[in-house]
Amino acid sequence: MVQIESARIQSDSYGARTQKVDTLVLHYTALDIESSLRVLRYRGVSAHYVLAPDGVAYKILNNDEVAWHAGVSMWRGKKLVNGRSIGVEIVNLDGNKNDYPQAQVAALVELCRVIISENPSITNANVVGHSDVAPKRKVDPGKNFPWKLLADQGVGLWPKLSSTTQIGSDSQIQALLEQCGYAKPHGYGKKGEAYVMVDDPAFPPPGVTGVVAVGTKDILKAFQLHYQPSSATGTPNLTTMQLLEGLAAAQ
Ligand SMILES: [Zn+2]
Repeated sequence: MVQIESARIQSDSYGARTQKVDTLVLHYTALDIESSLRVLRYRGVSAHYVLAPDGVAYKILNNDEVAWHAGVSMWRGKKLVNGRSIGVEIVNLDGNKNDYPQAQVAALVELCRVIISENPSITNANVVGHSDVAPKRKVDPGKNFPWKLLADQGVGLWPKLSSTTQIGSDSQIQALLEQCGYAKPHGYGKKGEAYVMVDDPAFPPPGVTGVVAVGTKDILKAFQLHYQPSSATGTPNLTTMQLLEGLAAAQ
């Protein structure tokens, strides 16, 4: 079993749960274990668990508390994923460059099983990365995250390839992405210090600055980071299309 140590939050950077938990969001911290625990326990962000490289899980918040881990985000047509998700921060300085150690991955599988058993509305289709729920803005847990290995052990989905021989149009790809849970095209910007989501980046609400548009290409790149990391370009090839159709069929 995964070793879980209590590391109760020491800040007020969390909220009370008012929605049912149906999503599990995985991240990498980009910090070492000491800094990860310091930031997530004492600063303006938080998570339910921090998972150290040696496989020890530090529990910061309870299931009935909302951690501030995903920020501006969208999944299955709903904005602000924090309210209905559990957030796990995995210690890795850069999951797009560095591997995840075996002990950490083995512990993560067990930790995810614990989380899912305690929050049974979390489906395998809703075990996702930060990059899945915040495309373009976030790239964690990264290309080296072992999504297939997790799915092989029953945590998350891994698609079977469809038999298509054609790459779809942008609108077909966007429709498939949304079927899998990904956001529709949108934007995000800053209002004061906080990021906010913008429905139409061409017409941001008053007071929102630095608006970044997130289009189908960006959302497809998030899909590729998860399911086809060797081709995470935002441009589909035939395998992308087969994976995307396969994932949509598995929903
Ligand atoms: Zn993250």
